[in-house]
Amino acid sequence: MTDLDQFRIETRAWLAENCPPEMREPLRSDKDVCWGGRNYVPSSPAQKDWLDRMAARGWTVPDWPTAYGGGGLSPAETKILREEMAAINARNPLNSFGISMLGPALLKYGTEEQKLDHLTKIAKGQIRWCQGYSEPNAGSDLASLATSAEDKGDHYLINGQKVWTSYADQADWIFCLVRTDKTSKQGGISFVLFDMASPGVSTKPILLISGNSPFCETFFDDVQVPKANLVHEENKGWDVAKYLLGHEREMISGMGLASSGGNPLIDGAIATVGLSGGRLADPLLRAGIALFEVRARAFGAMSERFIDELKAGRAHPAQPSMMKYYGTELNKTRHELMMSAGGSDALEWDSDRSNGGAAARSWLRTKANSIEGGTSEIQLNIVAKRILDLPS
Ligand SMILES: Cc1cc2nc3c(=O)[nH]c(=O)nc-3n(C[C@H](O)[C@H](O)[C@H](O)COP(=O)(O)OP(=O)(O)OC[C@H]3O[C@@H](n4cnc5c(N)ncnc54)[C@H](O)[C@@H]3O)c2cc1C
Repeated sequence: MTDLDQFRIETRAWLAENCPPEMREPLRSDKDVCWGGRNYVPSSPAQKDWLDRMAARGWTVPDWPTAYGGGGLSPAETKILREEMAAINARNPLNSFGISMLGPALLKYGTEEQKLDHLTKIAKGQIRWCQGYSEPNAGSDLASLATSAEDKGDHYLINGQKVWTSYADQADWIFCLVRTDKTSKQGGISFVLFDMASPGVSTKPILLISGNSPFCETFFDDVQVPKANLVHEENKGWDVAKYLLGHEREMISGMGLASSGGNPLIDGAIATVGLSGGRLADPLLRAGIALFEVRARAFGAMSERFIDELKAGRAHPAQPSMMKYYGTELNKTRHELMMSAGGSDALEWDSDRSNGGAAARSWLRTKANSIEGGTSEIQLNIVAKRILDLPS
């Protein structure tokens, strides 16, 4: 038996003992998602136990070094852990922009102090982060951002506005792009971290088509940020921003596979309408689901290869764009099929029968997948230029 076989056996046994049965159910609503943070209120004792147990082993971030709260697992061990979690439909113990976006950027560009401080808190779910990139006149053309950071010796004085800042009103800290030099577009941007409780920070929620309101406008009015919170060098924040975006796009690309807790679409459809007699008897719907499952499996295999290449430092820089575009399309298809399976019941916005319009709200939410993290048009432009070598 190899060491990896042994690791699989031990991991399986540990998960069997420690993953509460309630955490092996598909997510029913946004409330089931654990985001951690200073104001975290667990939705159930099981959710808290699951987070605490996984964090104690470093398995919220299994492949991060143990010195920063991670599990210190090799890529092969991380893959085994993910497979064993998927096999029992275990929920993600912690959803976090800290894990999927800021963490990788800090591991590459952060100082030792920044890593020790922030990464360990991210791993334990103690601090919830938000992303301050987009501005009213800087979305796809992100490098046009104007939020200014004036050098005041030991600190920066930050003034400006961000927009579409997801969960800014619930986040504890922000990773933020600011302009430290007006004479150079990309070369005048810096990447800073600060506490959302700092004087001068305010947020205003924006209501979405789905009826939810996770977005905010975020305003900075003479916010003082210590220089120690600069990541990488002043005016070199664009490098950090791009690296982080690659990880964000990789995370969004996985939504088509993970949005129902890793469950195959067919299981969700059966749970909604039952196997026989109902709409699943419709050959067109069945064929649509079968085609989706084939594509999702192919995409899953490609994602695995991509992640291996990324970890080995061999990934093409435009790969996240390719994956983000296709993952977005898959996620949209998944939710369209779930709406078809649900029929008119699924259209009910506020009834018990439709579980408070859960399917419709999730379907509407997928419309944003092709905008967040960079629009589909921008991803296709990148693929055309960087992979297909087409003229720009
Ligand atoms: C759900 C969601 C969550 C988000 N969360 C955050 C967050 O937490 N933090 C944050 O900073 N931002 C966030 N955003 C903002 C997001 O990153 C921007 O909306 C996105 O980058 C697009 O920018 P924009 O809205 O300014 O659109 P624009 O850039 O104004 O684009 C408008 C349209 O023009 C097209 N277009 C623009 N330029 C080109 C081009 N060169 N070629 C072809 N087509 C083009 C675009 O594809 C799009 O269809 C979020 C957005 C969504 C939808």
